[in-house]
Amino acid sequence: MIEVEAIASSSNGNCYRLISGTHELLLEAGLPLKAIKEAVKFQLGRLDGCLLSHEHSDHSASVAQLLHAGVDVYMTTGTAKALSEQAKGACVMLKGDDDAYRAFSIGKHWTIKPFATYHDANEPVGFIISDRDDVLLFATDTYMMPPFSVKAFGQIMIECNYLPERVDERIASGDISSKQAARLLHSHMSLGMCLDFFRRNAKAVSYCRKIFLLHGSRANGDARIFKEAVQRETGKPVIVCTP
Ligand SMILES: [Zn+2]
Ligand SMILES: [Zn+2]
Repeated sequence: MIEVEAIASSSNGNCYRLISGTHELLLEAGLPLKAIKEAVKFQLGRLDGCLLSHEHSDHSASVAQLLHAGVDVYMTTGTAKALSEQAKGACVMLKGDDDAYRAFSIGKHWTIKPFATYHDANEPVGFIISDRDDVLLFATDTYMMPPFSVKAFGQIMIECNYLPERVDERIASGDISSKQAARLLHSHMSLGMCLDFFRRNAKAVSYCRKIFLLHGSRANGDARIFKEAVQRETGKPVIVCTP
């Protein structure tokens, strides 16, 4: 069973800790090292590794320091290229002949299956993470979801970033430009697209115990509306990971 701890979840920084028995995994490294150390109770050595979705600094800020501290950080070839020197010594996720990412193991405990996401980054990915008895979906910074053949999700961590009507209001009031809004619409997940994922995968979602909503925008979204809408759609306990 995987226990999820959200350390930070917004465009200011992203970092999550997964705990499974005596095993721990970090998702994203978008905080200063000091904050990550505090969150893992100064026991970086207990981490089996850190998975990175893409190169943007709100997900990767302390990659170089984590690698330097001896933590195995996993990322795609494209992310490693984008991070350049910062990614020196990183573990690279590989694709098979069919162009899909190969599943890989971390130690004997974790199995990771990366999948391509839709974001304005070099080679962004999400993950299906399994320990011996749980299956967790992690998808952030993606404006839509790919099709899945997974039969059952135990837990779901998915981005729910904005409400289109809120974005329209902000364009009208001059708060953001239509160019900024266009970027948002093609890089982050609206509540509507998030609900669409739950509808399209209703069977696999029906086994899910808990849903975590990630990377919400305070200005363009509303945590209460997100939570109520996803709870209504799925009937599952929903936790909005606030910044
Ligand atoms: Zn982000
Ligand atoms: Zn990003």
